[in-house]
Amino acid sequence: FKDNEYIDQLLEELNASGTNVVVGKFNQLLQWGHANSLWPLSFGTSCCAIEFMCLGAARYDMARFGAEVARNSPRQADYIMCMGTITYRMAPALVRLYEQMAEPKYVIACGACTVSGGPFKNSYCVVKGIDEIIPVDIYMPGCPPRPEAMFYGLMQLQRKIKISRWFGGDARKEKRAKFFEAKA
Ligand code: SF4
Repeated sequence: FKDNEYIDQLLEELNASGTNVVVGKFNQLLQWGHANSLWPLSFGTSCCAIEFMCLGAARYDMARFGAEVARNSPRQADYIMCMGTITYRMAPALVRLYEQMAEPKYVIACGACTVSGGPFKNSYCVVKGIDEIIPVDIYMPGCPPRPEAMFYGLMQLQRKIKISRWFGGDARKEKRAKFFEAKA
């Protein structure tokens, strides 16, 4: 549909008409389902990963967000939860994992090290933020970020997915192509 405003208005009217039928767009249903079942590829190289483990435990209970199924295979993951110091030697492995993920895919930079190099940013061998090598969707500052901050970041990713169109499909691919072109 090209005329989205018209459809949005029509849906509002139908939902407000008092019938027992809820009407929505298929896209919204997909986005809702996807946002509430985000499986992370946990890429933890140092201390921030320990904090991430707390999320899965009973106190914080990441399962409430449908995101408890941490995978070790990029083919089964929706986003990379990148935690810890990334060295230039490690960088190609991270890029390879990112490339192996199916669309739609997202990246969370968790902790100061992944956002900017953190305490090690003056080291010759440390990547000064993973957005030097892969496109990042959500930045979580902190050394390490508290579990609450991690949840906040996760909720921002959910929000981003819910407001994107068709998961941002083509637009995201174009943006990513430009990103890698610029880095080449
Ligand atoms: Fe460790 Fe801090 Fe780096 Fe996280 S941001 S990996 S806590 S040094």
